[in-house]
Amino acid sequence: MNKKDKILIIGAGLCGSLLALRLAQRGYKVEVYESRPDLRKVDISAGRSINLALSDRGLKALRLCGMEEKAREICIPMFGRLMHDKEGKTFSSNYSGRENEYINSISRGDLNAILLDEAEKHENVNIYFNKKCKKVDIEKNIAHFKDYQTKEEFPVIADVIFGADGAGSSLRKSYISERKFLFSYSQNYLNHGYKELEIPANKQGNHQISKDHLHIWPRGDFMLIALPNMDGSFTVTLFLSYNEGEFNFENLTSEEKITEFFEKEFPDALSLIPNIKEEFINNPTGPLGTIKCSPWSYQNKTLLMGDAAHAIVPFYGQGMNASFEDVFVLDEILNHFERSREIFDWKTVFKVYQKTRKKDTDAIADLAIDNFHEMKDHVANPLFKEKRKIEMDLEKHFPTQYFSKYSLVTFNENIGYNAAMEKGRAQDKALLNLISGDDISTSLDMTKEELEIVLKKIIKETNEILKEDKIAGL
Ligand code: FAD
Repeated sequence: MNKKDKILIIGAGLCGSLLALRLAQRGYKVEVYESRPDLRKVDISAGRSINLALSDRGLKALRLCGMEEKAREICIPMFGRLMHDKEGKTFSSNYSGRENEYINSISRGDLNAILLDEAEKHENVNIYFNKKCKKVDIEKNIAHFKDYQTKEEFPVIADVIFGADGAGSSLRKSYISERKFLFSYSQNYLNHGYKELEIPANKQGNHQISKDHLHIWPRGDFMLIALPNMDGSFTVTLFLSYNEGEFNFENLTSEEKITEFFEKEFPDALSLIPNIKEEFINNPTGPLGTIKCSPWSYQNKTLLMGDAAHAIVPFYGQGMNASFEDVFVLDEILNHFERSREIFDWKTVFKVYQKTRKKDTDAIADLAIDNFHEMKDHVANPLFKEKRKIEMDLEKHFPTQYFSKYSLVTFNENIGYNAAMEKGRAQDKALLNLISGDDISTSLDMTKEELEIVLKKIIKETNEILKEDKIAGL
């Protein structure tokens, strides 16, 4: 492997454009082919999540590529969740007891655009739009494309092909259809889909509800969330079953039924979404699924990255963050081999990459499903509220000693998702045992001394649970 290798990246989405930038910075010759038009010239945002929560793992990868500050300029910090009940009453729950820990709302299109701009500044990067990959001959390393404008079909040969073409990846489909090796693949859909709506800015161009929060209307079997945009609007997302329950996407077909649903379940949100009926009927309903597969690579020729390798449901706000972290992890592996002066090839890099990364992307996939239930249901549950309050107090008073599962996953960029999941789950178990048991009393207003006792007990019990889990796993 050498810097003269021609690299082909399929997909100029979030992962593909950051990967192109990083590989160009490392000196490779990179060609990127994207099926959609250039989003910097054509408005193509409709239908895909318009804004996203960007957090520390994503920021770490952006920092690596010199893009953190530019991204922060278009971020709106969200310090916690603001829950809305059916009566329109709200209560907030911070993401962390430490002040410097928050997540950021960012526009998918704007973030993608700054990454494309930066990648294109490099002479060794060429990005082509409106070119859809139809299939990849993984033996000969030839990707076959169709130009959407001219309808012309043409092949592209490369030394290495990266599939960063999202959940419907053409490279992944070629792994299945070419049957050159044993390829394991699973795709699991939730019975829930999502639909995006909009709370516009007020007449002065300002946000109508707090822009410092991610808003949630949890209703047990379904929920509404809203993230702020820079122009004063909010992108609202309804997560609802396709066909179960009194209200579902299949039966919400008439204007009357849509209004009845929102009047009953989300009256305060309804008053803020003036175009609800048009938007509900015209905006698409998207599916929510988890994709796991293995191996991600074929010989020294191809590698899947981002959603193409591990699409997840959006409830931990980590899909993009994980895809960006993929680029960071691959970069570290390239550094390791380059520094070691060992002779190495792409096959070795790809193998080490998957060995390092797969357990973490599997973990975040599972955590994201857990959070689906937590967000639509548990956040409004009194036991959950008590647990979160104690966690906030522990993080506030013992900022270097206690990190909740949410903090471990979202703000602790130096530990992998898998370690964060194992520790976080054990800690949750220990804390819930403590709250429901009677050997130690917990309350919403504990003194620092009382909290310290709780902390010691949690640390001890967490370690015991982790030890037991390890023994059980042998
Ligand atoms: P994509 O963003 O899907 O990009 C793939 C690119 O490849 C696209 O540009 C596509 O046009 C192109 N492409 C596809 N097929 C081809 C082809 N055959 N040939 C050429 N080009 C092709 N993540 C977070 O971190 N935080 C969040 O808050 C968050 N919220 C979300 C909310 C929703 C409703 C959804 C659905 C997802 C959310 N995600 C979130 C996840 C995030 O969107 C994805 O993980 C992220 O977009 C993955 O980036 P990617 O580049 O791998 O894939």
